[in-house]
Amino acid sequence: MSGNKVRLNTEWLCDCGGCHVALVDLHEKMLEVLQSVEILKCPVLTDEKGYPEADIGIVTGSVRTEHDLVAVRAMREKCKIIIAFGTCAVYGGLHGAGLAHTREEIMDYVYRQSPTTKTDTIPHNSISALAKMVTPIDEVIEVDLYLPGCPPHAHYILQGLSSLINETTPRVQRETVCAACNRVMKKTDVTEIKSPSEGFADNETCFLSQGYICQGSVTLDRCLAPCPNHGIACSGCAGPTMQVLTEPTRDIRTEISDRMSRLTKIPYDTIKTHIEKSAKTHYAYAMATKMIGNKPTFLIQKWIAEGEVL
Ligand code: SF4
Ligand code: SF4
Ligand code: SF4
Repeated sequence: MSGNKVRLNTEWLCDCGGCHVALVDLHEKMLEVLQSVEILKCPVLTDEKGYPEADIGIVTGSVRTEHDLVAVRAMREKCKIIIAFGTCAVYGGLHGAGLAHTREEIMDYVYRQSPTTKTDTIPHNSISALAKMVTPIDEVIEVDLYLPGCPPHAHYILQGLSSLINETTPRVQRETVCAACNRVMKKTDVTEIKSPSEGFADNETCFLSQGYICQGSVTLDRCLAPCPNHGIACSGCAGPTMQVLTEPTRDIRTEISDRMSRLTKIPYDTIKTHIEKSAKTHYAYAMATKMIGNKPTFLIQKWIAEGEVL
């Protein structure tokens, strides 16, 4: 420590930048943090290019390039405690869905086709090449604390940082998004799965009861359920619960199919097949982690390929 302050480094790897914005979004709570923390390196707050010795290192994003590998190893070497911050760092995150495409397809789409990013020039020497796969950081370095969320809610950021600063054991939370959702699960006579753009869901009943796929019951609460409480089904951006991750026969599609088929008159297999056919949506945030890929979901690329043909 430097004086009484905890020394903090942050680094971002392959990510959208949202997790670093979430740190700055602590607003006035940031002042409380700054009373106890000295920020030595932070891409959005300091101009430090190296990796100073620090007590805590926050890593956002996942490993997709040579730069990411070098950066995450340097953080591990220089920081006593490493926090995998955000769903990208913990599970690979949204861009883990890139495993459904080759590197060439991704580069071609981004630089030649996407209306908002195309330049007609694919860079070769000026940037780090894409690795074949997206990798969560704990497959490269040892991680001390996991803080998933896309990005994590300020409440959980403060909770995690405070416990480290005060040298107390962080609270392990296992609640799902359903625990913070105000909707009520009830049995209905619904017979068909609806797309999110179809009809108007009522604001008090669980989306599953109404025929809409909601991932709240298989997703760790790192957000206080803003989506289902404001009319949008949860897409699972904080990543799966420990039950889904650790029990070999449990999975996103089986858990949701089980619950939804009990609440409605839609058969279990109809729901399971529907989720497999839209796997790129329902597994987007966690498909890069081996904990998901080593389960029956090893067929995920096949489901995506079949789903995209339909
Ligand atoms: S976890 Fe979400 S907010 Fe954070 S860097 Fe990844 S995509 Fe962005
Ligand atoms: S499944 Fe979705 S809508 Fe239903 S209770 Fe859980 S979070 Fe709320
Ligand atoms: S409700 Fe679901 S999709 Fe919305 S922020 Fe929370 S985990 Fe993400």
